[in-house]
Amino acid sequence: MTPQRCFLLALRTVAVPVTLTLFGGNAAMAQFAQTPIDITSQITTLAPYSNGIEYHYQTATVSLINTFGRKDEANNVIPKKLAGLKALVPAGSYVIVQGIRYNLLQFHFHQPSEHTLNGNHLPMEVHFVHLREGTQDSRTPEPGFTDCALVDRPALAIGVFIVPGNADREIQEVFAPPFLPVYSSSTPIPVNLNLSKLIPDGAASWRYLGGLSTPETTCNTATLVYQLSSDIFPEIVRWYVLQNVLHLPIDDMDKYHALFEEGDARPVQNLNGRPVFRDQKQNPR
Ligand SMILES: [Zn+2]
Repeated sequence: MTPQRCFLLALRTVAVPVTLTLFGGNAAMAQFAQTPIDITSQITTLAPYSNGIEYHYQTATVSLINTFGRKDEANNVIPKKLAGLKALVPAGSYVIVQGIRYNLLQFHFHQPSEHTLNGNHLPMEVHFVHLREGTQDSRTPEPGFTDCALVDRPALAIGVFIVPGNADREIQEVFAPPFLPVYSSSTPIPVNLNLSKLIPDGAASWRYLGGLSTPETTCNTATLVYQLSSDIFPEIVRWYVLQNVLHLPIDDMDKYHALFEEGDARPVQNLNGRPVFRDQKQNPR
């Protein structure tokens, strides 16, 4: 064993009990599996199967909102870099992965991309966020639902990189309204979309276990104040980052830039030994 490797192992051995003491079991693990990550050829492992995502996305009218202006429990506005343009999706669209249904709740954007490839950002990224069927946040309890805070990674997110281009029409509809919402208090904007056309062809992906890249209280008991001060966000997500990309005209990217002029991508986080699985394909289209 090299001295460096030995040191890292020693560090990890020491760090786990210390953080367990400070933050409690679940929160301690949170420090080891954050999102986003840098995806490199070196860290990925060829998986024996493709991602196997079965899409059941519908045509639906989504509500476009801007999350900037949201406040934490101490009434402080959450930093703009942690906000985004988000489309709330009505019930009915879902994916099935390994026999489990995950319902699509919303999708939202980041500029530049949050995940990086060999250290490089792509221009934008969209995240489709799903919640496992039969689970629900404990703040909206209904009979028959399991509290999602008690389930290991109840959320499934699909990340898609977005590069300049005109080939994908449906995503342009999201940016077509004459005025996009500017604040969380802005009136939501309805947009009718064929959601299935928002996913690029091809099943190749990178897959890893991570979390949300913004502070949220969904499926998590930590307050927003705690999450913001600790920079530890809920680790509730099975991540699938697709290797094929979407295209969006630069004019539409500029509309996003006008909303988030300093960008809204969280810096990449330490992988901490997590496996990242991939299919054979390794470069975006
Ligand atoms: Zn996101």
